[in-house]
Amino acid sequence: KILSSANPNPPSPLTVARAFSAASTPIRATLFPGDGIGPEIAESIKTIFRAAEVPIEWEEHYVGDQVDPRTQSFLTWESLESVRRNKVGLKGPMATPIGKGHRSLNLTLRKELNLYANVRPCYSLPGYKTRYDDVNLITIRENTEGEYSGLEHQVVRGVVESLKIITRQASLRVAEYAFHYAKTHGRERVSAIHKANIMQKTDGLFLKCCREVAEKYPEITYEEVVIDNCCMMLVKNPTLFDVLVMPNLYGDIISDLCAGLIGGLGLTPSCNIGEGGIALAEAVHGSAPDIAGKNLANPTALLLSAVTMLRHLELHDKADRIQDAILNTIAEGKYRTADLGGTSTTTDFTKAICDHL
Ligand code: NAD
Repeated sequence: KILSSANPNPPSPLTVARAFSAASTPIRATLFPGDGIGPEIAESIKTIFRAAEVPIEWEEHYVGDQVDPRTQSFLTWESLESVRRNKVGLKGPMATPIGKGHRSLNLTLRKELNLYANVRPCYSLPGYKTRYDDVNLITIRENTEGEYSGLEHQVVRGVVESLKIITRQASLRVAEYAFHYAKTHGRERVSAIHKANIMQKTDGLFLKCCREVAEKYPEITYEEVVIDNCCMMLVKNPTLFDVLVMPNLYGDIISDLCAGLIGGLGLTPSCNIGEGGIALAEAVHGSAPDIAGKNLANPTALLLSAVTMLRHLELHDKADRIQDAILNTIAEGKYRTADLGGTSTTTDFTKAICDHL
């Protein structure tokens, strides 16, 4: 179940066809190393992919040093075109200045590429002890609207306003994705997480759309849980949940909570699913400026994200081989990074994973 739960999306005929031709022609995938610890962990992924002889040719793109007027952000139009062309990619964390600056790089990617669902698997790692040993959750986050649209302005001095936009179209689309995901991955329950008792119109519409979609999937149990209660239940007993679907901001917060259940942000992967079969994988965590450049970062979250990308491409043999190597390295316990209580550098941990391939 853990292996299948990491597959973010049923493959499109296009990706299957590309996987079949992989033996002779490498598959091109876009790589954004990103900021902070991004370049260090991206290097680790490249090393492990080379060692596992994964037939991927990376097309690396860096964030520009000035705003591209075509994207209104530091992300260039050529970078976006690369993802559109390759359809698959891996993205390192991108730092966003707090309370100032230009349009967020992450928002630009999500909006411009219409990355409408963010799938965040979170499961207990065998041999790595936390309070729980049976976490197996999938958070599916609406990725294009809600408070995350960044529609904010000052009304008068001392008063600011932020708009939360929820649309029927985006809510139906992410709900459909969540139920389809549950059905195709052997999952039994979808929980819609909301605050519709207070946000009656916005979260109310989100719930209405989830209910509509739920009717098309009678084999999947559907429930609605208020977000504050959901947090309490997750901390008390995470096995109460299976697939969780929710508006953007709630997904951002709940998935960090889930990461905390299994050992932290160094471990949790994600994959952004876009229109036209695009899959852009990225870790849940950010650029970790506190440890950047120190060879201390845990590459597991980005590596497991890269594994979801391989599954999207139907390269399951390679995905299994790499995933087993990560899990066995962590379970063995000899090489672990500091966030998991170990003393290994990123480089040593990467080498240990290569040795386990
Ligand atoms: P963060 O996720 O970068 O860090 C939170 C804590 O987790 C830090 O103590 C950090 O050291 C630790 N951590 C995170 N990843 C780790 C890893 N791989 N190995 C070991 N420890 C790890 O969150 P933050 O500090 O709130 O954000 C920093 C920057 O990242 C901000 O600019 C934020 O906007 C950005 N951010 C980007 C993304 C993204 O690109 N998708 C996501 C979240 C935050």
